[in-house]
Amino acid sequence: MTKNISILGSTGSIGTQAIDVAKMHGIKVCALSANKRIDILEKQIRQLHPRIACVVDKDAAKALKIAVADTDTEVLSGEESIQEAARIEEADTVLNAIVGVAGLLPTLSAIDAGKNLALANKETLVAGGSIVMSRVKEKGVKLYPVDSEHSAIFQCLQGCPENSVKKIILTASGGSFFGKTKEELKNVTVKQALTHPNWSMGAKITIDSSTMMNKGLEVIEASWLFDVEDKDIDVLINRESIIHSMIQLKDNAVIAQLGTADMRIPIQYALTYPERLPSPAGALDLSQIVGLSFYKPDYETFECLSLCREALRRGGLYPTVANAANEAAVALFLKEKIGFLDIPGIVSESLGSFNGNKTDISLEDILNADKETRKQIALRSW
Ligand code: NDP
Ligand code: MG
Repeated sequence: MTKNISILGSTGSIGTQAIDVAKMHGIKVCALSANKRIDILEKQIRQLHPRIACVVDKDAAKALKIAVADTDTEVLSGEESIQEAARIEEADTVLNAIVGVAGLLPTLSAIDAGKNLALANKETLVAGGSIVMSRVKEKGVKLYPVDSEHSAIFQCLQGCPENSVKKIILTASGGSFFGKTKEELKNVTVKQALTHPNWSMGAKITIDSSTMMNKGLEVIEASWLFDVEDKDIDVLINRESIIHSMIQLKDNAVIAQLGTADMRIPIQYALTYPERLPSPAGALDLSQIVGLSFYKPDYETFECLSLCREALRRGGLYPTVANAANEAAVALFLKEKIGFLDIPGIVSESLGSFNGNKTDISLEDILNADKETRKQIALRSW
């Protein structure tokens, strides 16, 4: 079980919930990090007394340094500093709760420093799965999934003999726009897309849930974590987000993990594995649930899901390109520069025009494909 943790992205939705778990179980926090929300970071520093706090934005870091001058926490600044937090000596585990591909280099730094990883940052695996997984093996560190579906699958797998799984059944809530037609999606607003029926999460992943890109990213994430192909991963909508995912075994038995929609359950399992300890999350009361509903996803309307599956099948750098295009498109949508359906449009165009695919991928190839995809999107006038 984790004794000393570094939390990357501590000011976000996952980061703050990880702090709840750490406090409840007496896990020492030695490092925190953020992009620029220093008001939240200052409160966390005063509560948790980490040795270092790292802030990407240099002006924000300067202001934080002054604000916490009376504490023993050292404030580091710039993108590079996040990697310091990832390899800090005291930590046995690094929880990566950064949003986006910005989490990739810190993930690699943590692995290279021999840390176990609790990984929420799915973009790390989507963009750089081949490198991340081979370095995990090489360094002999543990990689625990935090994403609720992947944690559910990991939990279902406990006690199953090797090679006994036939299929992974990844559940999805369906997001804000479940059941809508393409026509109805044309003019949906940012505010509508940011309203998730079951989960309270950061802005980027909430938009990804509304386009179902999130589920596409999760199919790719599952393929790396559990070494399965696209054809062996089913996606099933469970509108109530009670079943967090399932596995079907070779004898057709199905094992599911259920719980309230509270990320502190999977976060805690990643930090305390294999222990099962009391949780700050509430208990599930199935007698209060009117029913569970299941649907097949609408792959035509929610094109991002199909595009991710296609990227996974094509392999190589295609998932990196799909992820970069989506990050750029979501940023444009949040700024109201493009419409909702432009998100799948941009992902599709980026995949269609990409022709630099390879099988033996280096970190440089990944970083270049990510950068080039964003550059092509930025060059267009929106
Ligand atoms: P949030 O937007 O709430 O938080 C993101 C965190 O990352 C913040 O601390 C933010 O700092 C920091 N950050 C943002 N940009 C950078 C950057 N360029 N470099 C370093 N740090 C940065 O996101 P979530 O907590 O919702 O999601 C985090 C990750 O976990 C994502 O990959 C998401 O897909 C995944 N996840 C989230 C779930 C959830 O319930 N929220 C569920 C499953 C997976 P600042 O606050 O200063 O902006
Ligand atoms: Mg998830």
